Amino acid sequence: MRRDFGAFQLDANILDALDKLEYSTPTDVQQEVIPLFLKDNDLIVQSKTGSGKTAAFSIPLCEKVDWLENKPQALILTPTRELAHQIKQDIINIGRYKRIKAIPIVGKQSYEKQKLALKQKNHIVVGTPGRVLDHLEKGTLPIDAIRYLVIDEADELFNMGFIDQVRAIIEKLPIDRVTSLFSATFSEEVEHICQSYMNAPLTIKLNKANQMKNRTTHCMVDVTDDKKLDLLQSILITENPDSCIIFCRTRENVNALSKQLKAWRFPTEKIHGGMRQEDRFYVMETFKTARFRYLVATDVAARGIDVANIPLIVNFDIPLEKESYLHRIGRTARAGKTGKAITFVTNLEQNNLEMIETYLGQELTKQKPPSKAQIDRCKAAFYKKISSKPQPNDRIQKKLEQGIMKLYFNGGKKKKIRALDFVGTITSINGVSSDDIGMITVEHNQSYIEILNGKGMLVLQAMKHKTIKGKQLKVHQARK
Ligand code: ADP
Ligand code: MG
Repeated sequence: MRRDFGAFQLDANILDALDKLEYSTPTDVQQEVIPLFLKDNDLIVQSKTGSGKTAAFSIPLCEKVDWLENKPQALILTPTRELAHQIKQDIINIGRYKRIKAIPIVGKQSYEKQKLALKQKNHIVVGTPGRVLDHLEKGTLPIDAIRYLVIDEADELFNMGFIDQVRAIIEKLPIDRVTSLFSATFSEEVEHICQSYMNAPLTIKLNKANQMKNRTTHCMVDVTDDKKLDLLQSILITENPDSCIIFCRTRENVNALSKQLKAWRFPTEKIHGGMRQEDRFYVMETFKTARFRYLVATDVAARGIDVANIPLIVNFDIPLEKESYLHRIGRTARAGKTGKAITFVTNLEQNNLEMIETYLGQELTKQKPPSKAQIDRCKAAFYKKISSKPQPNDRIQKKLEQGIMKLYFNGGKKKKIRALDFVGTITSINGVSSDDIGMITVEHNQSYIEILNGKGMLVLQAMKHKTIKGKQLKVHQARK
């Protein structure tokens, strides 16, 4: 029988956060993993994209982490920078009321800034292998308190050639730790890592009818290369999705296609691995807040896309690897929603199609290109929709952040002030308890404190007249 999260031995703070996140029932993989993870078993977990693996390890990690310990207690390795940020955000959401601190350690960001940030209190580090190894070699990532290692998206880590770095990282970690590995697919390399570095691991493989698969309609359309653009246009018009991701095989194709969509005046942006990190974040953030409807992407970029509800995925270029198909459609039919995937197939790509169908265990439903009459019938509704503002996709994130105000104080460690000093003073304010205090960040010369439950203004006003450790600090609302 399926139990809800309340059945696990979890801190009330974490249950509260799950409730706000609208995670009412654990997914299959969470159901299996959470109790075993809580008992500190080494785990090997295989389950499909979109099945909820992130929370399967993030929930027990947030539970297990000791808030008082200042050094990182868990390290999560993941293949891409976007994914690292996504996981960090998930952990912060889940651990919000327990005030768990998670930090992303990824490439293409200032090493020095990371070095400073790593000197702060951090419970959980989420990183990509290259940069994590860098910090380990230079001694700027403290490892002696690390008790948990999570290797996420292991298949992809190894496909991307990170295996040696992952090994080197593992070799440096304390032996007395709990190791778990999560992957959508398994290869020999993955098995090998498990055998070499894990301690009597338990294996959880969920191959039964995938929840996601059943909620996604899989279609294909025969097409020739020169007709792909026309086909895409007519499909977007007739399907008229609120939002849509269109996958191409190469960066060049992504560039060309997004240019074309813009020329049609369809609200479009693109994302691929060749773009600057800041630009990729910006695109993802604006996709979530629905500033545009169509995202043209490569496979690499697909990994970091976590947008709650994408009703349509178009494989403009059929994926060459069977796993890619799942990763791409893993972006639709999430969190209980339904979705549709349409794959364009040319004459030369019949083998790829068969490979996907075998892997998926079902045939893609053949769909005819929309007829002229169909297109004409749908045009008015389509143009009406693309000229209107889409619904934002970040409702839950907003809701979680509602009632939270971040305060800045112009003092920190240099003045010998610690997090507990803030807690002491703030809870001495009438009507404020420790439950109203969120994340606390004490830096050298300044500190940031989140005040929850809409009490920010109250605390802000009161703190103008209160001292912390006998010191009067300047206080104002922090910029986000
Ligand atoms: P995976 O890592 O297995 O590919 P994710 O961990 O990225 O999958 O989760 C897929 C989506 O499902 C995310 O959008 C996540 O917020 C959502 N999700 C995870 N667990 C639950 C749950 N118990 N209830 C509702 N939604 C969930
Ligand atoms: Mg994942």
